Parts: sequence; structure tokens; C-alpha cells
Amino acid sequence: MNTAGRARSSIRQRLQESAEQRIEHDLVRHRRELTQRRDARVLADGQRLLNFASNDYLGLSQHPAIVSALQVAAQNCGAGAGASHMVCGHHAEHAALERALAEWLGYPRALLFGSGYLANLAAVQALMQPGDVCLQDKLNHASLIDGARLSQAHLVRYPHADADAAGRQARAHAEGALLLATDGVFSMDGDVAPLPELAALAREQEGLLYVDEAHAIGVLGPQGRGSAAAAGLGPIDVPLLLVTLGKALGGYGAVLVGQDWAIEHVMQVARPYIYTTALPPAVAVAALAGVKLARQEDWRRMRLAAHIERFREGARARGLRLLDSRTPIQPLPVGDNALAVRASQELQARGFLVAAVRPPSVPAGSARLRITLSAAHEDREVDGLLDALAPLAEAIARRRDGDGIAEPDGVAC
Ligand SMILES: *Cc1c(COP(=O)(O)O)cnc(C)c1O
Repeated sequence: MNTAGRARSSIRQRLQESAEQRIEHDLVRHRRELTQRRDARVLADGQRLLNFASNDYLGLSQHPAIVSALQVAAQNCGAGAGASHMVCGHHAEHAALERALAEWLGYPRALLFGSGYLANLAAVQALMQPGDVCLQDKLNHASLIDGARLSQAHLVRYPHADADAAGRQARAHAEGALLLATDGVFSMDGDVAPLPELAALAREQEGLLYVDEAHAIGVLGPQGRGSAAAAGLGPIDVPLLLVTLGKALGGYGAVLVGQDWAIEHVMQVARPYIYTTALPPAVAVAALAGVKLARQEDWRRMRLAAHIERFREGARARGLRLLDSRTPIQPLPVGDNALAVRASQELQARGFLVAAVRPPSVPAGSARLRITLSAAHEDREVDGLLDALAPLAEAIARRRDGDGIAEPDGVAC
């Protein structure tokens, strides 16, 4: 009891209980320490592994042209930006990257951020105010959800990829301005948002459609311009896009691309833009080199598409039931946390690095192996993973069908 007579709880004790809960439910996360990396081959915790867990979909993160662009730029402009963009940290290298992205994607303007997480916080917070409605897919990335929380708008989440349900919810919450925000490609499921339907809904409701292209940029659409471009949507239907630089583009950072009125407002008011140091200019130069390669080298997308096809065919032949995804994210639903961890460990023992994704990254009861493919893989490496996965098929099926574990949403045969 404290002096006011109320029971005070202890942070330390709460943390301990929380740690015990994590152990009990197989939710403890470990970081592997990488000491070497060469394309898809890594040395992780001292063990040689083939990497099927990264977001380096085009195999660009170690490309010699990007690495040397970074080195040369660091010689010229140093390791750090020196200040935030608004003070004196906005360099010509940042501006060149912004112009290149706007031009590539066919938008009037772009704004560079330190990361996609920050950019989503900034965009959603700057566009929304209390009393507005932020309509989001249930499986959207955490940063979009957190942006809505920061803005104090009314956050309404619709069932995954269900544009009809989104429409019903939009009509039921007709007060205030409407922001409709969705991942283009969903990070843990690999499926694509129903963008034409969402664009029609945004038009009908005078809402703003915001698409997060983190897993789609470089991968989908003509020249890898992303999921909105793949759906034939441009700046009228999607006034604001998020492009991240740390996945297929092989670098680090993120860029909001959009209509002038949207970008200018975010730049003027967004706290996650204003109150943080600008990305090192050399990192912007590296990203620009990555954009050029991603844009030009269609062979990387073709190679990736062939791997996706090969993996799905091979999985079907081996009785592995994947989620219905046509993108490099190919999840194998397991259901149970402990089984997902065990499967990941067994794959590691056979030389494959595959992430066991558990709650809260995915809904409870829908733990999965999140297998990601890259243009850096070889055909025989994809086949090798399939052979390593095959013995797990039976254990997963038994667990899913026998122990009363619900089939997660969207499971396809
Ligand atoms: C990775 C990711 C982000 C965050 O981007 P970072 O640059 O890694 O901070 C945002 N949205 C989605 C959908 C993502 O997958």
C-alpha cells in the first residue's frame, strides 16, 4: 500500500510474469547472430545456412554497384546527415532520391524517411485528426495500426482483404474524414489487397486510399512499381503510397510518394518526420542505385517468379499446404507455436534458415513458417528446401486436423 492507500504494482514483477508467460506459450524470440553473408548463404550463430527468411527478394542487398555507390558517397559526404531535414540535414543526395522515386512511380512528389515504420506513423498521424475514421485491414502492418493510434482517429479494422465488409464499415461510420489504409502485399500472408475494390470504395466515400508497398515495390507491377501500379491505379485513386527501401530495393529507409498536397502537409506537420535525424546521405545514394537496378533488371523478377512457381508446384507434389500467395512470401501454416518452433529448428539442422512466425506478429493459433524466396536463390536450393520440408508435412497435417486447431483464415489446398 502506498500513502494514498492504493496498491501499487511493480514494473519489475510485471516483467517477470510476462517473461514466464512467453516461456509457457513458446513465444520467446531469439536473434541469430550473422557473421557472414553471401547472397542467400549465411553463417548464423556459427552455422552455415541457406537463407529463406529475408526480404531481399531481388538479391540486391549486396550488389557490387550498390555497395560501391555507398562507399563513394560516404567518402564524399560522410557517415551521418548531421541534423534533421528541417534544420540543416537535407542533402542533395536525399533530394535526388526523392525525385527519382516520384519519377519512377509517376507521382508529383516524394518525401524520404528514416524507415517505413516512421513513415507510416507520420503519414497516418498527419492525415487524421480525432473524430476521423481510419479504416484498415485486420492484417495490416503494426506501423499502420500504431499511426492510427497516435492520431486518435477512430480505428476500424475490417476482416482481411474483405472489401465488401470495408464498405459496410465505412457506411456505418460516416462521420469525419475517411482514410482507407492497406498493405499492398501482406507481410505475413503474402497475398495482395483487393485494390480495385478498395479504390472504388474510397471514391464512393470520398476517402483517401493509402497503400503500403513495402513487400510489393520491386516485385509486382511493370518495372516493379508495386501493387497499385499492377492494379492499374495511379495518383488519382491512390494519392499516397509508402515505398520501403530495405526489402527488395536492398538498402534502408523509406519514401512516401504522393500528391503534392498530401506530401507537403506531412512534411510540415508530421512529428516522426520533423523530430528525427535525416538518413545518412550515403544511404540515400545506395538506395538510388538499388532503385535503378530494380527498375531495369526485369530478369530478377522473372527469376523470382520462376522460383515461386517451382516452390508451389513442389509443395503441392509433397503434400505441403501453403497459403494462397503468388508473391515471394510463401507461408506454410502450422497453427501451434511449439510445432512452428520445432519445425524451424529441424529445418535449421538441415541447413535452412526459415522463420517461425508466432503471435503477436500473426493472430493466435495461426503460427506459420514464413518462407521467402529471392532471385538470389538457385533452383536446386529451392528443391533442397522442399525436400527438407517434406517430412514435416505429416506432422503439420496431423496437428491441424487431429488436435482441433482451427484452420487459420485463408488456408488454401
Ligand atoms: C517492413 C514493413 C514496414 C516497415 O518498414 P521498415 O523500413 O522496415 O521500417 C512497413 N510496412 C510493411 C507492410 C512492412 O512489411
